[in-house]
Amino acid sequence: MDLIQSSEHDALRAGVREVVERFDGAYWRALEPDRYPEEFVAALTDAGFLGALVPEEYGGGGATVTEASVILEEISASGGNPSACHAQMYIMGTLLRHGSEEQKRRYLPAIADGSLRLQAFGVTEPGAGSETTRIRTRAERVEDGWRINGQKIWTSRALYSDLMILLARTTPYEDVAKKTDGLSVFIFDMRDLEGLTIKPIATMMNHNTTEVFFDDVVIPADALIGEEGRGFRYILDGMNAERILIASECIGDGRFVLERAISYTNEREVFGRPIGANQGVQFPLARAYAQLCAANLVRFEAARRFDAGEACASEANMAKLLASEASWAAANAALDAHGGFGFAVEYDIERKFRETRLYQVAPINNNLVLAYLGQHVLGLPKSY
Ligand SMILES: Cc1cc2nc3c(=O)[nH]c(=O)nc-3n(C[C@H](O)[C@H](O)[C@H](O)COP(=O)(O)OP(=O)(O)OC[C@H]3O[C@@H](n4cnc5c(N)ncnc54)[C@H](O)[C@@H]3O)c2cc1C
Repeated sequence: MDLIQSSEHDALRAGVREVVERFDGAYWRALEPDRYPEEFVAALTDAGFLGALVPEEYGGGGATVTEASVILEEISASGGNPSACHAQMYIMGTLLRHGSEEQKRRYLPAIADGSLRLQAFGVTEPGAGSETTRIRTRAERVEDGWRINGQKIWTSRALYSDLMILLARTTPYEDVAKKTDGLSVFIFDMRDLEGLTIKPIATMMNHNTTEVFFDDVVIPADALIGEEGRGFRYILDGMNAERILIASECIGDGRFVLERAISYTNEREVFGRPIGANQGVQFPLARAYAQLCAANLVRFEAARRFDAGEACASEANMAKLLASEASWAAANAALDAHGGFGFAVEYDIERKFRETRLYQVAPINNNLVLAYLGQHVLGLPKSY
């Protein structure tokens, strides 16, 4: 049953499905609580899907963000969890748009062929959270490069990535005229760096997220991306792609749980009829379906604008907001519809319920999305 998806990209969807269907619910359940899906990531890489956004001249697939979003959606819709590798897609833009030719030649072909993984994105800090400009991790120029001191939190996949993209302060907050100045972005090889400590954080779903401690870590001088002090803008530039891709994962999650709930409620009989005949069961599923369809339209419009080089911040933010709420509504309705069996691990509903709940909070929480729309689109006063 094809719920929600557009009629476009059929061949791409079929190609992704061919890979992801090798990894069934039992595979994903066996990984819990925190094993990294090495086999799955390797299969996706071999099929060329993880390097999709790398331009063809660097050995990648040269895909659009629309196509990348379809890849992630299909992974989620198959019951898989793209969080093991999605950052490779959404943080790539920082390197593509702002990296030097030398950096691109060094990293992109290796990312495309899977010999290097770019999965770690260090922005959030314990003392900064949503207020990114308050980060305190410091990068200072030293003779042989940059010396990094500080701490990141929620740096997902850091234990399974070769490369990290890091946002750090090169000028302290107190010394800049504008709070968004003085932040810089770096790309470097994390393996075998002296002074770098990574500690896993146990979370409610399998996300391989960590705390990263930098204690006099020295990275090479050419790790700096673009100009010193302009990193906040570079990171912001990548946010629209991130929002669109996360929205697409949510739509995939929604498809998965709805399809399961539809089969179950058509088959399960209580009081002599399928439970799906009861409006109390049917309506929450129908409402979630409508929400997912609406979110999907905004997601494709956001992606279309992104690929055409048009302004898309409003659409990308709305897509993320609507899709994360819709997938949660779908997962919640599917859990209710399964009754007690929704809580049985083997049904995969409770797993998706946990996985998709994250996206109302991360990579940006929906309150801040609403604040963006309120202030930048509706022209209302700033609240912070
Ligand atoms: C599993 C997981 C993986 C993650 N992976 C990464 C990663 O790979 N790299 C990375 O850098 N970060 C990552 N993050 C961090 C994530 O981006 C942050 O958790 C998120 O941006 C919210 O920041 P915070 O947790 O500090 O919440 P806070 O900023 O402390 O906010 C807490 C609550 O207050 C509300 N709030 C705060 N300010 C306002 C306001 N002005 N108006 C209204 N409400 C407000 C928020 O909505 C939220 O509900 C991850 C987080 C999780 C949980």
